[in-house]
Amino acid sequence: MGKEIVLAADLGGTNLRMAAIDRQGTILYRIKRETPRGECVDEIVEAIVESANECRENCAAFQVKVICVVVPGTVNVNNGIIITAPNLPALNDFRMVAALKNELGIKTVLENDANAAAIGENWCGASKGFADSILVTLGTGVGGGIIIDGKILRGFDGMAGEIGHICVEPFGARCRCGSRGCVEQYSSASAIVRIAKELEAQYPESSLRITAQLKGSDVFQAGTNRNKLALEVFRQMGFYLGIALSSLLNALNPEVIVISGGASAGWELFMPHMQETICQRAYGGLSERAKIVRGELGDDAGILGAARLAFDSLT
Ligand SMILES: [Zn+2]
Repeated sequence: MGKEIVLAADLGGTNLRMAAIDRQGTILYRIKRETPRGECVDEIVEAIVESANECRENCAAFQVKVICVVVPGTVNVNNGIIITAPNLPALNDFRMVAALKNELGIKTVLENDANAAAIGENWCGASKGFADSILVTLGTGVGGGIIIDGKILRGFDGMAGEIGHICVEPFGARCRCGSRGCVEQYSSASAIVRIAKELEAQYPESSLRITAQLKGSDVFQAGTNRNKLALEVFRQMGFYLGIALSSLLNALNPEVIVISGGASAGWELFMPHMQETICQRAYGGLSERAKIVRGELGDDAGILGAARLAFDSLT
């Protein structure tokens, strides 16, 4: 038999990514398809199984002993159950590991997607070589993964790393979590759109067209053209992100914080404000010591982290 490889699946709210990956982190074969959005969990399991089998067929020369699936939700890694998945509610309380093990006949590992992305960047990306690192993803929401002393921090209930719900404005915007003023409401792609809409009246001369279909990328485009409304949106985004990162630096003293996700495309526009806020707010020398960098793996961070977890499960 050939060398050992693993299967890594990143089940997102929009896309399912599956890859066959070797011990060096090389992606040997990959598939991307739409995530089934039905009420029934069977369609999702079927999509994972089909993709896994396609990877196996195309890598028949290698031994596949384990698959790791990462999902957008809270998971119990010990018993392989998804506790809640807000964007894929069909998966709530689902015994994913048992279902896939039964269908695929190989060892199956489950993890939260942001934790996997943190592990991926730590294995092959922007935080490679650092023992203490934090990943912050700025997507539709804000997610995170915390690695301390080389190990992912899961917490008592597996819910550690909910960085998006760090409070940055005590009486601020309502959050889907039930609280107010979470950083997710100020520094995510959806926040960029919301803030732009709220500021519109203050910038009557702005050429940025505020429509119901406005996207974060439209605001970003306007920002690169020095539109004042867009620049103010990114100033606020950076300021609030800086407050959240200062709290992380103060509590955890990481060597590096990696910023990734779609809204990190606005880095040049929000980074100076983020950095300035950190200098003002982080304790002592923490702001000078910590490196804050952009992610290097893009959409592959999740599958690479899943692959690393899969290899770790073999030893
Ligand atoms: Zn919240």
